[in-house]
Amino acid sequence: MTDRIVLATRNAHKVSELQRILSAAGLAVDLVGLEDFPGAPEVAETESSFAGNALLKARAIADFTGLPAIADDSGLCVDALNGMPGIYSARWAGRHGDDRANLELVLGQMADVPDTRRGAQFVCAAAWVVPGESEHVIEGVLEGSLARAPRGSHGFGYDPIFVPRGYVLTTAELRPEEKDAISHRGQAFRSLAQFMASR
Ligand code: IMP
Repeated sequence: MTDRIVLATRNAHKVSELQRILSAAGLAVDLVGLEDFPGAPEVAETESSFAGNALLKARAIADFTGLPAIADDSGLCVDALNGMPGIYSARWAGRHGDDRANLELVLGQMADVPDTRRGAQFVCAAAWVVPGESEHVIEGVLEGSLARAPRGSHGFGYDPIFVPRGYVLTTAELRPEEKDAISHRGQAFRSLAQFMASR
């Protein structure tokens, strides 16, 4: 029988993305999202780091379901803003998930910052919690810099202003599979899959 693992998300695309990554690592698991668990708690992201928030979510879902759980937390860290928006990336402009307002605010804050100091990173922490047994967190980082105006229509969030190191295009101009191959989330989930496969 294949192991059942819960991913702490209600987004079916995230479930199939991670299922693909786990299969590629040779792991035959049955990955399910929170849609299968009505009443699962909405976990407030109250920790001060990506890893802390990812663990918080994975622990809560493992507790609720009694199954091994995976959760992630991610965001954009801008050098000239001392690492902000960081864990506040999703609500930087005040309203959770207002991607356009968040991006415009960061661009405005960076308006006078020269090209030499526009470094930034996308960071993703992926946590895996096996109830009563073990906890593990892995981070993936994509280095890059901030453009001066939004470009591209793929992706979400800050993708239109993020240019990965060594690229000219923003992550919103890359094809989704090109972004997955280098992204912070792809890296974190691939490392986690390898770790799980090695146990
Ligand atoms: P989370 O859902 O709590 O992990 O919040 C992630 C937030 O960080 C999103 O709402 C985006 O603003 C930003 N973010 C994380 N990963 C990406 C990415 O791959 N592209 C663009 N924005 C991202």
